[in-house]
Amino acid sequence: MPKVTPSSASSPSRRTALAALGAAAVLGAAACARGAAEPAHTSPPVSRSPLPSNSPSASKPPQAQATGAPSASAPEPSPSPPARPVFVPDYVLPPVTNGLAPVITRIPTSHPVVFLTIDDGAHRTPEMVALMAEYGYLASIFLSQTFVQADPAYFDQFLAQGSLIENHTLSHNINMVRQLGYSQQLAEISGMQDFAQQHYGRLPTLFRPPGGAYSPAMQQAVAAAGLRAIVTWEAKANAGGMDYQVGSALRPGDIVLMHFRPEFAADLNAFRQAHLAAGLEVVLLEDFLAV
Ligand SMILES: [Zn+2]
Repeated sequence: MPKVTPSSASSPSRRTALAALGAAAVLGAAACARGAAEPAHTSPPVSRSPLPSNSPSASKPPQAQATGAPSASAPEPSPSPPARPVFVPDYVLPPVTNGLAPVITRIPTSHPVVFLTIDDGAHRTPEMVALMAEYGYLASIFLSQTFVQADPAYFDQFLAQGSLIENHTLSHNINMVRQLGYSQQLAEISGMQDFAQQHYGRLPTLFRPPGGAYSPAMQQAVAAAGLRAIVTWEAKANAGGMDYQVGSALRPGDIVLMHFRPEFAADLNAFRQAHLAAGLEVVLLEDFLAV
């Protein structure tokens, strides 16, 4: 697939972000070199001093570098979610072009990563929170007000783990592309931006269309609402199994769709088996895109 290079159509803010990523790239390359050039020690088997090679970072994926640790001079007033990693970019999200937000179904990347997204929010249990914590998964959580307004605070538990809340419209009309004009779509999307800001303290950057259908009018409304991209999916964890648009396994850069449903545990287990079998690490889409 074609790759968008950082040098094309870069905005000032994008260039700033890439400059920061460039610093991480140096660290990432160093970590990679350290991992690849693990020395074969030929010294005697009994050594009184610990070898320097058992650095914990040697076993970590080379593409992720945790950053954003609070500085010693700036005390943190309250507990905050984990620091978000910065990735060495081999993909740059296309900019809004001619007023239209880009649409992404998967990320063309060589990194061994996969992205988990969870939609709607209609079914909510403590088990879901516990499973996400147990597996250490971070997800892009696309909520609709209509599903979550009875208990929006439930999702604070995922935010505390490091997941992020994204936009899935106010009312979840799966026929909105056909039934709603531009201004009505914009109201659905902007209204959910306000709801998310009010309840979760962050304006979403990503949008998922209810049902998955999108149109140029929707792309325009998404951009006008201040969102960066429409996110569809490449695979689903559904009814306790995996459904693939292409092939029969997860591939690097795939975006996986799940829902907050009663079969959440079975779906998450199906996803877990699939990403482990494929040798892919679950990372947060927003972190990878730096949005
Ligand atoms: Zn939905």
